[in-house]
Amino acid sequence: MSTRGAQQDPRRRRRDGRRFYARRRVCAFCVEKVRAINYKDVGRIRRYLSDRAKMEPRRKTGACAKHQRALALAIKRARHLALLPYTPDHMRVPVSTMQQA
Ligand SMILES: [Zn+2]
Repeated sequence: MSTRGAQQDPRRRRRDGRRFYARRRVCAFCVEKVRAINYKDVGRIRRYLSDRAKMEPRRKTGACAKHQRALALAIKRARHLALLPYTPDHMRVPVSTMQQA
């Protein structure tokens, strides 16, 4: 447990100070009163993937449980339709297309 929190996320916990006032995070989907997250809305959903193409955890995104579940489903659907990447490899632009004259 000692090395926990070593991962850098500057917005969160500080190691030195005992007191840390976390900013109140609200679920972005709740704010917009989104009922169902559209899996075709890639522009929005994309932000919930890390650079490793993994889904960001709630603790980072601030999504509420309800919307995180809906989000997970939407991401999986979008991935299935190749709208979103499963792995970082999928995000890389193929070399063949880059070198075409
Ligand atoms: Zn929500």
